[in-house]
Amino acid sequence: MMRKLLFFLLFINVFSLTAQDHCASDKENLREQHSDSEFDEGIQLLNALSAEFEFDQSSASVRDGFKEVTIPVVVHVLYREEENNISYEQIQSQIDVLNRDFNAENGDLDKIPEVFRALATSAQIRFRLADKDQYGNFTKGVTRTLTTVENIGTENLYHQSTRGGRDPWPQVHYMNVWVCELEGNTLGFAILPGSKMSERDGIVMSPRAFGTLGTAKEPYNLGRTFVHEVGHYLGLRHLWGSDDESCSSTDYISDTPTQLKENFGCKPFPTYSCLGQPNGDMFMNYMDYGNDSCMYLFTQRQVDLMHLVMKTNRSALFHSEGFTGIVAERNLSELKIYPNPSEGIFHVEFGEQTPSKIELVNMLGDVVYSYSPTSKIELINVPELPPGIYSLITPSQINQIVIR
Ligand SMILES: [Zn+2]
Repeated sequence: MMRKLLFFLLFINVFSLTAQDHCASDKENLREQHSDSEFDEGIQLLNALSAEFEFDQSSASVRDGFKEVTIPVVVHVLYREEENNISYEQIQSQIDVLNRDFNAENGDLDKIPEVFRALATSAQIRFRLADKDQYGNFTKGVTRTLTTVENIGTENLYHQSTRGGRDPWPQVHYMNVWVCELEGNTLGFAILPGSKMSERDGIVMSPRAFGTLGTAKEPYNLGRTFVHEVGHYLGLRHLWGSDDESCSSTDYISDTPTQLKENFGCKPFPTYSCLGQPNGDMFMNYMDYGNDSCMYLFTQRQVDLMHLVMKTNRSALFHSEGFTGIVAERNLSELKIYPNPSEGIFHVEFGEQTPSKIELVNMLGDVVYSYSPTSKIELINVPELPPGIYSLITPSQINQIVIR
């Protein structure tokens, strides 16, 4: 009973401390550590690795041995309302920001205060929507799922197809991203790369902080919340360490000043929070909480730690099977279904390539209809099917349809 009570108090404490946070990574990783002891052990090992790194300044070996890598990304769009079924262009706008900022190609580097400017460094990590799915089929790297679950990201169901979410693609080979509703002010979170991978591994983002157009809303419409979350995905912590509001907790990074807590908005330079830091907080670092327009850099040591994590807990991404390398096929347009919802009579438009087969699968997993299309637009006529949500599956895509 006492243990239960302690756990409950700890949980309440975690929630109250992070209630205002727009990044829920600390909260969600703690939740996962409490529910999965192996994941918890893996995080302890990651912390030990990071602590060793913090005090080992001879990291030239980490830096020199790093070969530029491109990480395959799959974005799972989970939507209750059509407006959150974000466009491919919005998704690509986010990937573009990621590539720019992770490689220090952002045009606002000159806004970094001079005392910090020399620390800004390219991570030599690139990202691309996957060309090939887990079965070797061509893909655009985007899945779309109609769901009925409110705040599915916060409800911890986003990664389960059987409960209204979408199963991840193999997490060792792909960076899985779910763009879906999150409760309250939460803009996103990422599961940390512990040495035991969580079944929830990946990044969860609110549509209002993803990409630079469509549903993205000021001041989080420049794609930098996601840059922050990918920092977590590759092992970085918040600049202020844990949420204990003390100057003694660490982010394991020796070239970021010690900082008391998060900075919101756009702070004036210098802004001080802990004694002994002559230049004050590095509030313009991606791992703080500033507005998108006021965050510009990762430091050399942050990049070094991400490289260390890439070489250890995320090393499979170096030889991922997420790409075919057949770039010419990457512009294949997405499959269109209309009307949707329908009464069982609808068109399917395949874009450039007609698939060999389409199947309709009900929520129980039964194939209720199968057909080999012969033209680029097909009329599907199944008014006899009972109302409900079905998956329309081709060898390269899965789409949700609703029959009324
Ligand atoms: Zn964060």
